[in-house]
Amino acid sequence: MIKLTAGVITNKRLPANTNFDRHPDECPFCHKGVQPFLFGGFLHNNLCKLWLFYACPRADCERHFIGEYSQAIASDGVIYHFEKTLLGNYGKMDFSEDINKLSPDFSRIYNQARQVRISRTD
Ligand SMILES: [Zn+2]
Repeated sequence: MIKLTAGVITNKRLPANTNFDRHPDECPFCHKGVQPFLFGGFLHNNLCKLWLFYACPRADCERHFIGEYSQAIASDGVIYHFEKTLLGNYGKMDFSEDINKLSPDFSRIYNQARQVRISRTD
């Protein structure tokens, strides 16, 4: 079990004694085994989810990601169990009606290509 330290608390709802089971052990970008840097955290309003903010320690990566944890009640209190890493989602670009009339598929294809470009690891 790991306890959060005061240095990583980013909101008032996340107490310093928040317990979680482990850190992610693989970077979702470079897919290498890592011991990521923890630099922040956020607890959902209803306390059911904990999100911890990480950075990959590898010099050839250094990308940021989120660890998502779910609340569980243990015999010695509340603990958050690691579920998965998140990369966030990418906002969709909107185009003018003129462009959409000229090419009805352009917006869809552009946004698919944009998401692939943003999420590429190399
Ligand atoms: Zn990495």
